[in-house]
Amino acid sequence: MNFQIIEINNNLGIWKYANHLPNVKNKNRITLGEGNTPLIESEKLANELGIGSLFFKMELMNPTGSYKDRIASLGVSLSLENKKNGLIGTSSGNAGTSFAAYAARAGVSYDLFVLENISEAKLQQLLTYNANVKKVKRFGTSPQVGDKVFNFIIEQGKINNKEVTITAYKFNSEAMEAVRTISYEIIKEFERVGEPDAVFVPVGGGGLYTGIWKGFKEIYKNNKPIPNIVAVQAEGCSNIVTAWRKNLKDIQKIISTTKISGLQVPNPPDGKYVLSALQGGDGWGETATDEEAWKWQELLAEHEGILCEPAAAITLAGIQKAVEAGRLHSQSKAICILTGAGYKDQQRLNNWLKNKRNLPIYEINYLEEI
Ligand SMILES: *Cc1c(COP(=O)(O)O)cnc(C)c1O
Repeated sequence: MNFQIIEINNNLGIWKYANHLPNVKNKNRITLGEGNTPLIESEKLANELGIGSLFFKMELMNPTGSYKDRIASLGVSLSLENKKNGLIGTSSGNAGTSFAAYAARAGVSYDLFVLENISEAKLQQLLTYNANVKKVKRFGTSPQVGDKVFNFIIEQGKINNKEVTITAYKFNSEAMEAVRTISYEIIKEFERVGEPDAVFVPVGGGGLYTGIWKGFKEIYKNNKPIPNIVAVQAEGCSNIVTAWRKNLKDIQKIISTTKISGLQVPNPPDGKYVLSALQGGDGWGETATDEEAWKWQELLAEHEGILCEPAAAITLAGIQKAVEAGRLHSQSKAICILTGAGYKDQQRLNNWLKNKRNLPIYEINYLEEI
């Protein structure tokens, strides 16, 4: 079939898809060259997982190291277009870093409320862009605190005419439309790599999943079924997949116990959209433990040369679960959205490498005897 995706080649970053995005004048388009990430084929792990072929959508190659740059590019541009007095938001780390970078580039202020246990590397990265950062106690572990922070930000955004940077359709559906550009880029590659059986997406708040799903639905226009869009959650924060498994109408609030940064969202704002896509038959859900995500993170680095965040590597654990459950088989073709770069989670790197790091130092004269 012929897909209709309009590309304007003289616009950098997500703006080459400006015709598919909310209206922003050329002078207000803030870009760092986000998006346009490669889709590369797995050399070894498809075999290890027992499927036919596997592709990685390299979102970790975005300017600040995660796909959130796409949303920040559109969100900051919209704040200029709509004459807002700066930005206000919350983030488990990556969204904050993205918006901080794009806010710096646009020259607008950014008030950011973060998890008490935000990863040190993420905190450092976003402080470099001079964002106005405030840590909030028990934010990230308690759903009540999460709700209060979200409500506070929405209220402050309204009172002070600030752009709300929460990366969820529920709170900023316009800026989230940038996520659909991931789907356009993937669909454009189908001529080269063929259509996959499934696209594996890590799910925290559910906005990434919702945007990718919307992108496919928009381009396929009900002419034929979209590939399965698979939601992968950490077992310690798996309320969306649990609701799908039990065929519930609503997502239960939980206390998150996963240590995986980016997936600690006990009250997922876009969870209901994910649940309705799954219940509508456009995909299915998988869960994996933190240890499984870490294992695949290591295998990706050791066998493919790709260092991604645990939140991204959990998609490979999801494929393993799908194979074990018989949902994928030796002929299946899958795509993993590798959402973020591995250097962002310093604590995880410390744990992973603690036994490798004590390297002996050799005398130059004895090197050849080793
Ligand atoms: C934000 C994020 C996710 C999850 O996206 P949601 O929209 O919250 O579901 C996954 N991986 C990384 C690296 C992220 O930054």
